[in-house]
Amino acid sequence: MDETLAKSALSSEYILDSLEDGIIFCNQHGIITYANDAAGQMTGLSQSNMLGRPITDILPRLPLLASANNDANTSQFELNGRFLRGRATTTYDHNNQAQGILTTLHDITPEHESEQAKDHFLKTVSHELRTPLTAIKGYVELLASGAGGTLNDNQKEFTYAIQRNVNRIVQLINSLIFASSIKSGRLEYSAGYTNLPQLIRQISRELQPKAAEDGQKITVKLDDKLQPLQMDPIHMATILEELITNSIKFNRPGGRVQVTAVSQTGNGNQQTFAIVTVSDEGIGIAPNNQEHIFEEFYRADSQHDTHIRAGGMGMGLSIVKALVEAYNGRIWFKSAPNQGSAFTFIIPNQPRP
Ligand code: ADP
Repeated sequence: MDETLAKSALSSEYILDSLEDGIIFCNQHGIITYANDAAGQMTGLSQSNMLGRPITDILPRLPLLASANNDANTSQFELNGRFLRGRATTTYDHNNQAQGILTTLHDITPEHESEQAKDHFLKTVSHELRTPLTAIKGYVELLASGAGGTLNDNQKEFTYAIQRNVNRIVQLINSLIFASSIKSGRLEYSAGYTNLPQLIRQISRELQPKAAEDGQKITVKLDDKLQPLQMDPIHMATILEELITNSIKFNRPGGRVQVTAVSQTGNGNQQTFAIVTVSDEGIGIAPNNQEHIFEEFYRADSQHDTHIRAGGMGMGLSIVKALVEAYNGRIWFKSAPNQGSAFTFIIPNQPRP
């Protein structure tokens, strides 16, 4: 019997070493106790060199998030010239006591390269379109102001329609350029801190009249322990505005939008995190649309009139995700059709990237 068990232990190690994905296990103090062959190749260290070392030495971003004990435990990062998607999961024994963190690493270099080619294409097209569009916008404004001669009512209506649509395209192009600057690490950060409670209250107050048009109410729940975040307040405001505006857009009439912010400390280290959730009681997101929701231009198909009424270009959430990740944070959501959605993001309180 013992011999059989020993053989099966040997074969499971053999199986783990044959995997293309890297596997690293560390105890609850973050010390590596196991790494398979692929993890060695990905980190550029021999297995014996990894054992006994803190995982933070090798993968600085991943355990930080795993230790915050949240659902958003995946992260993408560059290591030794390859792009990896890491996933960290806390493991528990049969008494439900945390045992440690299991980390898997998957090489996503090809996907990353095609994503970069797409971003480059979008950036080039956006820049090329901006100049002629600025000219069109300027001339339509001149026409509408009567500078080219007095317009009759029909002509005025036509120029307003052109103006509205040109403005939409300009907005879209600005969003594309902003998204590409975040992704390529060219985001500009102003010095300063975000006072999260104050910002949440302010934005909720500003958006309340919009919510009230449909009988909705925005409620806010804040943790006293929240500390000033080392984050450009404009970036945090963009994230909050997008999420709260979406919640209002896709809510049911008379529904509630709730914004909650709590402070959390990671296990085993002194890292603090701000965790913010924006939830609504609206149309929700169908399971087959959920995996695409953060993609650029993605808008879920829906028969529901709320969605038709909602407008939008499908850029908001991709910008929100890129901004959250620029601060080493994560975003995820829970949603079910007609039962509302809850978007949550976590930002570590650490020096600006
Ligand atoms: P936009 O709102 O401009 O369409 P976003 O990127 O902000 O673009 O959102 C993408 C899509 O995700 C939306 O079109 C909608 O289908 C879905 N979505 C976003 N937020 C919510 C929400 N709170 N409830 C339901 N669906 C949502």
